[in-house]
Amino acid sequence: MFDLSLQREYKPRNTALDKVYLPEWDEICVTVPKRFERTLVEKIQNTPEVTQFNQHGDKVQNDKLSKSIASLDALPETHQMLQKTCRDFADSELVPVAAKIDREHCYPAEQIARAGDLGLMAITLSERYGGTGLDYMAYAIAMEEVSRGCPSIAVTMSIHNSLYLGLLEKYGSEEQKERFLPGFLDGRRIACFALSEPGNGSDAGAASTTATLKGDRWVLNGTKCWISGGYEATNGIVFATTDKSLKHKGISAFVVPMDSKGLSRGKNEDKLGLNGSSTCQLIFEDCEIPKDNLIGQPGYGFKIAMQSLDAGRIGVAGQALGIAQASLECAVDYANKRTAFGKPISKLQMIQSKIADMSVRLESARLLTWRAAWLKDNKHPFTKEAAQAKLAASETATFCAHQCMQVLGGMGYVTDMPAERYYREARITEIYEGTSEIQRLVIAGQVIKELST
Ligand SMILES: Cc1cc2nc3c(=O)[nH]c(=O)nc-3n(C[C@H](O)[C@H](O)[C@H](O)COP(=O)(O)OP(=O)(O)OC[C@H]3O[C@@H](n4cnc5c(N)ncnc54)[C@H](O)[C@@H]3O)c2cc1C
Repeated sequence: MFDLSLQREYKPRNTALDKVYLPEWDEICVTVPKRFERTLVEKIQNTPEVTQFNQHGDKVQNDKLSKSIASLDALPETHQMLQKTCRDFADSELVPVAAKIDREHCYPAEQIARAGDLGLMAITLSERYGGTGLDYMAYAIAMEEVSRGCPSIAVTMSIHNSLYLGLLEKYGSEEQKERFLPGFLDGRRIACFALSEPGNGSDAGAASTTATLKGDRWVLNGTKCWISGGYEATNGIVFATTDKSLKHKGISAFVVPMDSKGLSRGKNEDKLGLNGSSTCQLIFEDCEIPKDNLIGQPGYGFKIAMQSLDAGRIGVAGQALGIAQASLECAVDYANKRTAFGKPISKLQMIQSKIADMSVRLESARLLTWRAAWLKDNKHPFTKEAAQAKLAASETATFCAHQCMQVLGGMGYVTDMPAERYYREARITEIYEGTSEIQRLVIAGQVIKELST
């Protein structure tokens, strides 16, 4: 009744059927076309007519800001070229190794360095500080494409860009930018963001890690948990309370070198997915850092964290879109090749219904994500829209990965195909940088305020 030969012959177009395609780890060839890197940089540098400001407050060429978010074709040429560059990068260097990274739980240093060579590890950082100087629309696009290839690499890219470089660019002093930005622009060094604790995740204002000023040093005590990239990071942004009596208004933000005395790492968590990114506790026991590693004023930390997470959610939405897109492509490709009852299953209306639902949710979530990015790039409030984008995109990723597995039937459940990995990797996007419940609280709070005035 079922054509089992198809299962053996099936070769997905862009998926990591590693038993067939995967080269040895040290044989992975670097094929990202240099011409894309050059043309992208040239394009950014040679565009005419300065008329607008970007999110950094710098004047930018008017063809670098999108006028419409209706489709990729409506975006500026720079964004289209970036999308193509990132897609080529993902197809040639990430898709072939994503299953191996997942299986072996290894940190993909080589691939992250390549992302750095393409300018993706400092994509929104202003050119003034050595970054690529693109906007959040570009960031959302790049996140989606990289995540479509390997979500583990996307999470590293996301935290590093929005929660380290972006945070320091916005809130750090010039002296701190000089100290903490160089060396973090090309993917060879990454940073982490330490807000969550064993006793507080969603309730981030209840941080119990303390920072006490002793002479010219801050002394940190406490435990942070779930810290992505905690094992590989060179620096971290750490939130600790400098005045417990003020509750969340007593939380401050610090740059902490990860080799600081008194800082140790807990065990690397054994996770459902994202196995190319470590997740661990950071334990501070009389950990001393210089006084001027405080970012902004004492007590500004909670505001810094919340505003940075608003921007970070656009990145997580992009990450979720990438998983959803990969799931949709995998489902369609398989449905065209798999025969049941004498015809490809793509001709069956119940399969078509799943494909239609996946595409509607994916494209809706993408538009929400691009809208949030566009608002940020154009200096409009975007808290509600970033939460909407993150909520929609993460639930879409889970939905699409679920449907993809269903379309693949038994093949969806085994590691020969990427569907089971998409299913595992999608789930986290509904949890970190604010759970879906927290996104709904943020959205409802804003909507009620808007409609009650
Ligand atoms: C793989 C991974 C990587 C992570 N990376 C980082 C990182 O790099 N840095 C970092 O700081 N943190 C990180 N986190 C932590 C993550 O942000 C938290 O897990 C998340 O915010 C939820 O917090 P919690 O786990 O304490 O859940 P809780 O806050 O205990 O929530 C448990 C449940 O209660 C719900 N809930 C809580 N409060 C409310 C409310 N007011 N209304 C309705 N429902 C509510 C939640 O939505 C959830 O369903 C990571 C987590 C994971 C799993």
